[in-house]
Amino acid sequence: MRKIIIAIDGYSACGKSTTAKQVAARLGYSYIDTGAMYRASALYFHQHYINLTNPSAILKALEETQISFHFNEKLQRSETYLNGLNVEDEIRKMSISNMVSEVSAIPEVRKHMVHLQRKMGKKKGLVMDGRDIGTQVFPEAELKIFMQAEMTVRAARRQQEYLSKNQVVDLEAVLENLKKRDHIDTTREEGPLRKAEDAYEVDTTYITVEEQVDYILDLATSKIIENLHTVSDI
Ligand code: C5P
Repeated sequence: MRKIIIAIDGYSACGKSTTAKQVAARLGYSYIDTGAMYRASALYFHQHYINLTNPSAILKALEETQISFHFNEKLQRSETYLNGLNVEDEIRKMSISNMVSEVSAIPEVRKHMVHLQRKMGKKKGLVMDGRDIGTQVFPEAELKIFMQAEMTVRAARRQQEYLSKNQVVDLEAVLENLKKRDHIDTTREEGPLRKAEDAYEVDTTYITVEEQVDYILDLATSKIIENLHTVSDI
């Protein structure tokens, strides 16, 4: 059966990755967390004292950076590797959240990531979440979702995530970080976060993860059927 691309964009901490992972698992599709790719490069830049205003230093650093994802059977989750090292926990820390949006606004970084992400989608059968997937990476994606939620709910959910990893972070600090990232992500020149015209909006403030997943799966099923009728399989 013809596979499709599902692009899930939206603000930080709206439940994009939780939803995207479950949708991918139910369809037997791959899942790519593009935020993790930006976070891993931010970590590399931080560890190597890369000057964020020096384009040639950035290009060199990007060339030195290998990002991959591997499934951890024990924890039943996909984990991010940077140059062969598992950085899954490291990249989720507040220190990286505080610098990632500045790194991801750099045009050289975006160009590099978009190129890698398009290569990952060549065979379709993919759920990718991020900020610019439906607008820049796969403007032709068969299904586009734009997720949002009220700020206080987003902050509380993100704080819970930190707590579950034994990181105590003040709610105010989480709120500040989300607001700052929203601002940088929506106002940058290259690939700003915005809803694609043909994206379906999902507000996750008052709905459960199961409801989000079911809604997207219903849409995906219709798009897969539509795709069967519009594209010849021969
Ligand atoms: O999704 P997550 O919150 O982990 O993303 C971290 C940051 O990476 C975002 O705040 C944004 O600055 C950047 N990002 C991006 N484009 C994407 C995915 C993430 O600019 N496609």
